[in-house]
Amino acid sequence: MRKIMLLGGPGSGKGTQAQILQEEYKIPQISTGDIIRAAIKAQTPLGQKFQTYSNKGKLVPDKLVVALVEERMKEPDVAQGWILDGFPRTIKQAKALDTMLKRRKEALEGVILLQVPEEILFERLTGRRTCSVCKQTFHTKFKPAPEHGCTDGGPHILEHRKDDSPEVVPVRLEAFQHETAPLIDYYKAQGKLHLVEGDQSMEQVRAQFKQLMGD
Ligand SMILES: [Zn+2]
Repeated sequence: MRKIMLLGGPGSGKGTQAQILQEEYKIPQISTGDIIRAAIKAQTPLGQKFQTYSNKGKLVPDKLVVALVEERMKEPDVAQGWILDGFPRTIKQAKALDTMLKRRKEALEGVILLQVPEEILFERLTGRRTCSVCKQTFHTKFKPAPEHGCTDGGPHILEHRKDDSPEVVPVRLEAFQHETAPLIDYYKAQGKLHLVEGDQSMEQVRAQFKQLMGD
């Protein structure tokens, strides 16, 4: 598989895996968040439209997001494949993507769901701390910050993001469940859904991905 989509909740390690796949298989990660920001910055015709919606605080219509993804897929570096990340989010978007790909005589080859039990996501997210000086990420239990070792050998100044608080994390996990469950069924029905157990060692996760990607 070289034309894939990654699904995974907050804290699942989806971003890290996308980075690894991108380097290993030389296929770019298409993250809609990133390309929307880039299009606005470059002030492309689509970027200007996005800007209008964002200025008004309005939700960007699916049609525009799909158009932007299509624009990205026309670039030469994605000829060998791509990794969709953060898109589609809804069944409506998934259907629009299917239509667009069909028109381009392409197809999504597989959807990989990085599955991690909720209680583990909760533990991973709530324990996360970021140093406000060097921006390194730590974890209270899995990767404690050393006493020294920040810029100039000083102590790290750890911050606990509000998003990662025990009050907010369940809301994020719930939102992911709510948003993703229909997509899981949608791609299962197409025979495209693959599961990777995210609650294993990094090596085991990578081995499972390798098997799925097939090389
Ligand atoms: Zn630091």
